[in-house]
Amino acid sequence: MSIVAKNLTKVYGEQKALDNVNFEVKKGSVVGLLGPNGAGKSTIMKIITCFLPPTTGEVKVNGFDIATQSLEVRKSVGYLPENNPLYYDMYVTEYLEFIAGIHRLGKQSKQRVEEMIALTGLQPERHKKIAALSKGYKQRVGLAQALIHNPEVLILDEPTSGLDPNQLIEIRNLIIEIGKQKTVLFSTHIMQEVEAVCNSVILLNKGHIIAHNNTQDFTNLAKKTTYEVEFDGNIEVEVFAKLPSVLAVKPQGGNKYHLETEGHDDIRKLIAQTAQAHNWLMISLEKMPHSIESIFQELTK
Ligand code: ADP
Ligand code: MG
Repeated sequence: MSIVAKNLTKVYGEQKALDNVNFEVKKGSVVGLLGPNGAGKSTIMKIITCFLPPTTGEVKVNGFDIATQSLEVRKSVGYLPENNPLYYDMYVTEYLEFIAGIHRLGKQSKQRVEEMIALTGLQPERHKKIAALSKGYKQRVGLAQALIHNPEVLILDEPTSGLDPNQLIEIRNLIIEIGKQKTVLFSTHIMQEVEAVCNSVILLNKGHIIAHNNTQDFTNLAKKTTYEVEFDGNIEVEVFAKLPSVLAVKPQGGNKYHLETEGHDDIRKLIAQTAQAHNWLMISLEKMPHSIESIFQELTK
């Protein structure tokens, strides 16, 4: 296990940000820490990276205890904090050399800086001041600094927030690439991101873990199933609305509808038979994949 958190609780003054959280992250996996604002994602990350002590509970990273072996933990963890704090007055190369110095990379420094610039695609911008970079390139600098000491575990706190769609895809791909070599824990409140990038998901809400699954199982969690049906001509919506297990029939424009049903039983046959019995010509019928978004809404309700 790369990360083991046991009975983790964090109280800020009166506020309980984490309430007895337990989880494990397997070596080599990319895990999404998913939750709305205020769920406790950043708090978990600050604790794992030894920036904040927990109120109670313990965490081990690569077998090292955050309370008693914090230097070892820091050596084996790369951290990109929320809002990516950087020194804007420094040049890209200068900044990375500075970080390499903090990690005491010594003679390796220059080479590691070059490797990081190549890995994160910073080559064209390397001679600029950080202040002059676009948000996407600043994020690459943030990833480069997190990786420079070649840590086994990478902790990324909302690394894609505020990026435009192109930058977002570039940074996601970079994370997927890095995830082939390292254990990655990254937080987001974007469901699709989890589907795109992660092997598994920890769903956090109000300081509690409410689901921890591999991404596929997570999408199977949805209690609802949606069917998309299209007819050639008008139908009576009420007929479908009255079918057992149908919760709602939602018009999608034209003669297309979404039938939302309770549970996972496949009712395509019933839908087809019903259409036939009324002489409605059905021209398509599809069981739609569960979106993580709908599951998220279900579970955090
Ligand atoms: P997330 O990253 O999921 O948005 P956080 O871990 O930042 O959530 O915050 C969890 C809860 O703890 C929030 O309600 C937040 O307001 C509170 N919190 C976070 N940091 C502090 C702090 N330094 N002092 C007081 N409350 C805090
Ligand atoms: Mg946060």
